[in-house]
Amino acid sequence: MAVDTAPTPIDDVLQHIRPAVRERSEYTVDMPSGIDVKLNQNESPFDLSEEMKEELLSAYAQVEMNRYPTEQPEELRHALAEYDGVDPECILVGNGSNEITYTFGLAFLDPGDPVVLPRPMFSLYEKVMRLQETDLTTVPPRDNFRFDAEALAAAAAETEAVLTVLTTPNNPTGLAMTLDEIERVVTASSGLVVVDEAYVEFNPEGTAIELLDRHPNVLILRTLSKGFGLAGVRLGYLIAHPEVVRELMKARLPFMVDRFAEQTALAVLRRIDRVEERVRRMQASIETITEALQAMDGVEVVPSQANFVIFTTPVPADALQDRLADRGVLVRNMGGYPELEGYLRVSAGTETENNAFLAALEKSLHELPPDPAA
Ligand code: PMP
Repeated sequence: MAVDTAPTPIDDVLQHIRPAVRERSEYTVDMPSGIDVKLNQNESPFDLSEEMKEELLSAYAQVEMNRYPTEQPEELRHALAEYDGVDPECILVGNGSNEITYTFGLAFLDPGDPVVLPRPMFSLYEKVMRLQETDLTTVPPRDNFRFDAEALAAAAAETEAVLTVLTTPNNPTGLAMTLDEIERVVTASSGLVVVDEAYVEFNPEGTAIELLDRHPNVLILRTLSKGFGLAGVRLGYLIAHPEVVRELMKARLPFMVDRFAEQTALAVLRRIDRVEERVRRMQASIETITEALQAMDGVEVVPSQANFVIFTTPVPADALQDRLADRGVLVRNMGGYPELEGYLRVSAGTETENNAFLAALEKSLHELPPDPAA
């Protein structure tokens, strides 16, 4: 008997993909051509020095590429533990902090679980919560875009949230929470509270690590993509109670950190003075940019505690973003967040890049007609 070899129609194939996935869109970042000044992803404008890259090339040459890395990059785990003054058992290292966020989803969240997120916050969290089909409560900010700690604490308590996520300083606003505000949310929560400190190196409020001594439900999330300038290397880590880390180890991907990434991070940690110096330069850039923006007619700035800053102008944000891109300067349009319609976000660049951005902005603001809707 002849076997029916007709291919399955693609729609029949796609119906097997979970609706929670099909309803989402892919995470993409626009990269128009002709960009010389890239200030759209909160990266460090400073690459590693030539000298350090040369050193690393010899370290890479020693790497046994035919062998799997260890389950966790133990040398790096110990170095990070020393850097943060915690026990290595408290640390889980991942392939970027985004990857660890997906592990939270797998480890903590069943469909229907109550989850609390403030708004507006880094969009990946809402995506993971929706992929896991959780029961999401979002908490609007106060009028000045600051997270409303009281309302977050109340929402976490009322919904008995399994997970609440705070980002401080927050992306996209650049605003930090105080330790008291964070602790208020943590104290009100019987569930886990993730404190994403992606921009901690820039934060005058400092880290919330000390909360771990009093509250085993706190998880601190870090990345080496921002202050450390290693966005291309993909390294993030978690600091939490050792028992929590042990459970997360069961859900994580095997071998998620490669041997090259470990060597790179170790080299950067050995020269932490350079990281600190670059962080100071990025902070100075944000100060300069903020002051220059405040001096421009009709421009409003949200003062930031991170390496980027958001602002509005009298002209439509999308037209302004396009005009800046035509001039080779790439910034991010925040219009995807309903609260931040009309806002653009610019990251700290080198001095030359900051000047190029400010000059392009001034010219573009003179050329473009004001937003009729404003
Ligand atoms: N958390 C926040 C708040 C961020 O803004 C970003 C970068 N956009 C990340 C995490 C991503 O970090 P990583 O590069 O380690 O995945």
